[in-house]
This record gives sequence, C-alpha cells and structure tokens, in this order.
Amino acid sequence: MMASFRSEYVTHSAEETIALGRELVERLSPPKMVVLTGDLGAGKTTIIKGIAEGLKAEAQENVTSPTFTLVHQYRGPSATLYHIDLYRVDSQRQLETLGVDDLRDDRSLILLEWGEKFERFRTEADAEIRIDRTGENDRKITLLTR
Ligand code: ADP
Ligand code: MG
Repeated sequence: MMASFRSEYVTHSAEETIALGRELVERLSPPKMVVLTGDLGAGKTTIIKGIAEGLKAEAQENVTSPTFTLVHQYRGPSATLYHIDLYRVDSQRQLETLGVDDLRDDRSLILLEWGEKFERFRTEADAEIRIDRTGENDRKITLLTR
C-alpha cells in the first residue's frame, strides 16, 4: 500500500496489543477497509479484539478467528465491524462468494486478515496494520494510512 502516514508501536503482551487496538479506533473511523499483515500467530486477531471493544461492538473474549466461517460481523452504535480471514481463500472465485464489496457502506469498518494475498486489496485498502513478531511476547505494530 502507498502510505502517507506511518505510526509505530511496540507491545509486550497480548493485553497491550488489545489496548492498542482500542486506541487505534479513533484513527479508523468508517467507512474503511483495512488490511492486517503478519505471520500466523503475529497478533492480527488479537488486535481486532481491541478494535471491536473500542467500537463498543463486542467484548474481546467473544471475538474469535473467522478462519473457517471467513466473516464475523460485530455491530457497534456507530460502526459495523466485519472481521474477515482470507488465509484459506485462494481463488478469485472463492473471494467473490464472500461478497466483500456488498459489505461496504458508510458505517462499515472492514478488517481483512491476509488481505494482501489479493492485489485488489493491496490497492484499495485505506490502511494497513502490520504486525511483526520481534520476540516471544514482543510485537512491532505499524499503522499505515493514506
Ligand atoms: P494471528 O491472527 O495473527 O494469526 P492471533 O492474534 O490469533 O494471531 O495470535 C497471537 C498469539 O500471540 C496469541 O496467542 C497471543 O496471546 C500471543 N501474543 C503474545 N504476545 C503478544 C503480543 N504482544 N501481541 C499480540 N499477541 C501476542
Ligand atoms: Mg487470525
């Protein structure tokens, strides 16, 4: 993604990453599509727990990986969060059945784990949250926005 703004954070526990997610909400006001990049176990789902809480859409313990269901929806008072995991989505056809475009409206915040697998999301995304594992419990988290 071509980024104009970059913010870097370091966290030392899952709880700190969730807290950061809560704080990042003010920078992710809808409508937005955000790609989350980082290896398996980096903390993509974990930071989304915080984002869901920041939006007052769902408690962190109820936000789980949509690895098999592919899309989870959480409604907040002023935004609807769509949490999508494209790890198991490999073809254009499979992607189309998800209907990501139909989710876009004024209130939607669409968060795509593994969104970078598809060129269209690399181009279309309004922001990227990049998570690098720098130690057992240490993460470098970068927010890139246009
Ligand atoms: P992903 O969705 O990127 O595959 P998850 O969020 O599901 O990753 O898993 C991240 C794992 O790493 C969790 O087990 C979490 O408890 C652990 N973890 C340890 N330290 C951190 C940290 N600083 N930030 C986020 N997760 C962490
Ligand atoms: Mg995940």
